[in-house]
Amino acid sequence: MSIDPYAWIEPSLTTIHRADWYRFAQTISSLPGAVVQLEGKTVINFASNDYLGLASDRSVIAAAIAATEEFGTGSTGSRLLSGHRQLHRELEKAIASLKQTEDALVFSSGYLANLGAIASIVGKRDLILSDRYNHSSLKNGAILSGAKIIDYPHCNIIELQNHLKQQREKYRRCLIITDTVFSMDGDLCPLPEILDIAEKFHSMVLVDEAHATGVLGKKGAGCVEHFHSTHRPLIQIGTLSKALGSLGGYIAGSSTLIDFLRNRAPTWIYTTGLSPADTAAALEAIKIVQKKPELRTQLWHNIDTLKQLISQELPNLKLLPSESAILCLQLKDTATALTTAIKLKEAGIFAPAIRPPTVPTSRIRISLMATHQISHLEKLVTALKSS
Ligand SMILES: *Cc1c(COP(=O)(O)O)cnc(C)c1O
Repeated sequence: MSIDPYAWIEPSLTTIHRADWYRFAQTISSLPGAVVQLEGKTVINFASNDYLGLASDRSVIAAAIAATEEFGTGSTGSRLLSGHRQLHRELEKAIASLKQTEDALVFSSGYLANLGAIASIVGKRDLILSDRYNHSSLKNGAILSGAKIIDYPHCNIIELQNHLKQQREKYRRCLIITDTVFSMDGDLCPLPEILDIAEKFHSMVLVDEAHATGVLGKKGAGCVEHFHSTHRPLIQIGTLSKALGSLGGYIAGSSTLIDFLRNRAPTWIYTTGLSPADTAAALEAIKIVQKKPELRTQLWHNIDTLKQLISQELPNLKLLPSESAILCLQLKDTATALTTAIKLKEAGIFAPAIRPPTVPTSRIRISLMATHQISHLEKLVTALKSS
């Protein structure tokens, strides 16, 4: 027997290496944007969640600086103690206005918003139905809640309904949880159908709009707006760190729900309030989302253009179904995905390989930005041709 209780770590890492599952961080040394300095090399960036380019927007940066000058670098405590500022409330009201909900609550990250919301609205006597491709934060929120969890096959309404028929009666509350834009695939959940089923089976619905906010919907409110479901009862979660270019998360919904969460969500109560800089940046970003719909138009123009270029120029590549700014090229295995990503990088293209255990099948994942130029898309297609 080994005397060192930490000796297991090294062989575990070796196993990770052998499976080609080893991960490491790469350094970006420039402002975020469509073109960045990655490990000292200029590359076209298809790996960012900054869909509208707001993380380097001058007025968003200025808002963060002004808030830091006025309120300091940290919020110094949890919101219920010394960490609450008027700025937080302004941001929450702006989110509620964007989402057309009664109220909203800001968390320190989207991950924490999901953990806190799910764990406080359901418990041991309850049932969670969860799409198999849901984000890690939804899955771990479900585990934390202690509820019975059933994973249903990806976007499969029939299976979802069958589970509800068989199981719903045995439980007190029921919660259906789903990404709206699936983060590693780019497709959308069938939201209207999910809401209809939820109504029929007396179930709550919690949707994660992380990749939809600022991207989908006429006003950029997300997938809920896209599907004309704005005023249907549901719980909306999202992040400030993707199209809004900042850091933090939120829950939007009825004022009773938000009031309840302020009293019950441990990941909100026992953590430090969002920093003034992050709060002000997100607030400014929401104003831009509302004032400049042309950013969204430009993003969708880029999405449509790239889809067209790929189908014309790369007929042998399989593009996974997508209705968002995330486009995935399916590859036959992990090794191929890794080599393709390396070749792309050599050609000046930053588009990462996504592989198990994050997803069931290996792929190159491309995220588009409003600030990509046509020439960037053409270079990507040329690089894919020769990789
Ligand atoms: C990124 C992401 C989150 C986490 O948001 P953070 O604010 O980065 O913690 C949650 N859900 C989904 C679907 C995401 O893609």
